Amino acid sequence: MQTHNLGYPRIGKHRELKKANEQYWAGKIPAHQLEQTARTIRSYNWQLQKQAGIDWIPCNDFSFYDHVLDTCLLTGAIPERYHTLIVDKKLNDLDLAFSMARGYQKEGVDITAMEMTKWLDTNYHYIVPEFKANQKFSFFNQKVVKEFLEANKEGIQAKPVLLGPISFLLLGKEKEANFNRLDLIDNLLPVYLEVLKQLDQHEAYYIQLDEPCLALDLSDRERQTFTKVYQKIKQTLPQLHIILSSYFECYGKNLSTVLSLPVHTIHLDLVRCPAQLDDILATEFTKSRTQLSLGVVDGRNIWKNDFSHSLAIINKAVNALGKERIWIAPSCSLLHSPCDLDLETNEKVLTPEIKQWMAFAKQKLYEVNTLRQLANGNNSSELQAALVQNQQCIANRQTSSLIHNQPVKQRVAAITEKDAQRINSFSLRKEKQHAALGLPLFPTTTIGSFPQTKEVRNWRARWKKAELTDAEYNKLLKDETEKAVRWQEAIGLDVLVHGEFERNDMVEYFGEQLAGFVFTENGWVQSYGSRCVKPPVIYGDVHRPAPMTVAWSSYAQSLTTKWMKGMLTGPVTILQWSFVRNDQPRSETCTQIALAIRDEVVDLEKAGIKIIQIDEPAIREGLPLRKENWQQYLDWAVRAFRVSASGVQDDTQIHTHMCYSEFNDIIQHIADMDADVITIETSRSQMELLDAFAAFQYPNEIGPGVYDIHSPRVPSKAEMVSLMEKARAVVPTEQLWVNPDCGLKTRGWDETKAALEEMVNAAEELRQTV
Ligand code: GLN
Ligand code: ZN
Repeated sequence: MQTHNLGYPRIGKHRELKKANEQYWAGKIPAHQLEQTARTIRSYNWQLQKQAGIDWIPCNDFSFYDHVLDTCLLTGAIPERYHTLIVDKKLNDLDLAFSMARGYQKEGVDITAMEMTKWLDTNYHYIVPEFKANQKFSFFNQKVVKEFLEANKEGIQAKPVLLGPISFLLLGKEKEANFNRLDLIDNLLPVYLEVLKQLDQHEAYYIQLDEPCLALDLSDRERQTFTKVYQKIKQTLPQLHIILSSYFECYGKNLSTVLSLPVHTIHLDLVRCPAQLDDILATEFTKSRTQLSLGVVDGRNIWKNDFSHSLAIINKAVNALGKERIWIAPSCSLLHSPCDLDLETNEKVLTPEIKQWMAFAKQKLYEVNTLRQLANGNNSSELQAALVQNQQCIANRQTSSLIHNQPVKQRVAAITEKDAQRINSFSLRKEKQHAALGLPLFPTTTIGSFPQTKEVRNWRARWKKAELTDAEYNKLLKDETEKAVRWQEAIGLDVLVHGEFERNDMVEYFGEQLAGFVFTENGWVQSYGSRCVKPPVIYGDVHRPAPMTVAWSSYAQSLTTKWMKGMLTGPVTILQWSFVRNDQPRSETCTQIALAIRDEVVDLEKAGIKIIQIDEPAIREGLPLRKENWQQYLDWAVRAFRVSASGVQDDTQIHTHMCYSEFNDIIQHIADMDADVITIETSRSQMELLDAFAAFQYPNEIGPGVYDIHSPRVPSKAEMVSLMEKARAVVPTEQLWVNPDCGLKTRGWDETKAALEEMVNAAEELRQTV
């Protein structure tokens, strides 16, 4: 039984890569210093994995920015607009990669960056490959070979990792009409064969090809391409040992194709899909010689592995196939785990009781090796002690009073359909809201946050270090809030916001005040490029010990006679952007959060807040990878939102907000959320995203964003009027609101003020045309 790892976090345990990258981009350190940082991280990671007893250690899992971008460089899939950087500017591959990821603006040359999108259902973003009909590929960049040799030199038994050719194509985008990117496989495959051949010449014994698209719904043609490609690889390089890996979902309908591929080993994500082991063991596969890699240690979460549970799985596989055919592994690359639990030393932040339930990337490596040894029948006292200790931690977690809160469980169990429904339908509520609120046509508002300036962030940092007292910090925030209110009044916005100056982050702010959440000090995970996030950990039953936002919203409302919108983050988004407990269904945890938010909504209403926004930007990204599982997810996600929103009277207006997202295939569910008003991001698509609402004849009110907040550019009144005219052509005037695309926290005040003044003027002009 061998152990291997699919990939290790590349950011460095103190985010060294992030810091070095950013310094390099700012011109503060030279390239060789950045390279040195990268080498140090790689070497540290390799030695760590070796010490932990991992037999086959990944290389080429490191990346300065993103591994899909690296694959573009590997195969020479460099979009034409960057060719001048190679030919005229003579950029090396590192600078070329950074230019592709971040754009290039220098000496009058201005080249846009490539697009970025979410890596399957994770919060990691990859650079989207761009393909043309006549796309040529070449073995352009030698990184994989260099890293393999580097690992060898360090005495590491390394296994090169590559994104497989079919997933590389499928994860990309056609940049010309009338061709299918999969047609490019005949051009691409020879390059992969060349790469594999070189690795073989350098005596790479195992090579891991990641084909995560096998976790998606595939067409027959796509499945046939898998067969064709992997047969060709086998024919050309019969001596190679390919480990085929996919993760995050079952192989599902792709399973029989996968089992028939002439590869050496097939990896299974048994955390996401425990059932597929039984499915496989029930087939003729048992008679083949192909090996199985059992991904039993969760690479997507921070919980300790349950050894007894994993051993049962491993033993089942061993009994059916024999030890020689079994590998033990994490479920996926550990890229999605924080680096090292040992760095969490502040017991006030992460108490020992909760910490004992957790494992980060480093700890997961040891779990993999311990499981292998236990499954091998190693009876040493040390190992038996490790098993006993693991069982104790697991049992402690199952029964801990920190986790289990009976009143919360009872409340969830007692929810009725009525709790998930407003008192009356929207058509009735609308009348009452219009009478109560007295807003003009084309009411104007913003999405919630105002600029989080350096100053504001500095106050928070000083307050956290106790350099500012609570009173001093609150006074500064109150003054900032008042300024924002006065200014919104002055420019004539209709529905005001308090500005969210008191919030660090839209999930963390709530997590810090809800029971059942903890935070780490160093639990960073790469989100994209040099950006990392530190998700909160939901470890126990969630409830709201005290109001969270009522004081700020009431204070802001007390300053003005205009309506102040209360601002909350919705249950699905809080769930989606946290590490979630794995001892109960996600739907259950989501419902608990929904009840906590519901309490807050009701308290805001009691405090006189008549308009309350519950942001759900993450609803869409929570969709399962396979369509057949969408309905079930949407049922509980939409219901959770409704539970959070339905505790109020008819004349209280509930808003929701969603960021850039396709709505076509989920519009019925968006409508089922039954928010009185939804604001969405539409300006970059020139209102195209509104078409889904128009076609559906979406009955409630909509604020299609009229300008892109991701850029400092100030839009003109005319532009916004014309976008709203487009909206008005497809949605009745009475249903429309005027607002920016998203919150303004990343913007400066100058451009924010200028843009919103223009926006208010645009609404004024629109009203005159009614
Ligand atoms: N209310 C939040 C804000 O304005 C919404 C942010 C979001 O949708 N991502 O910042
Ligand atoms: Zn948004």
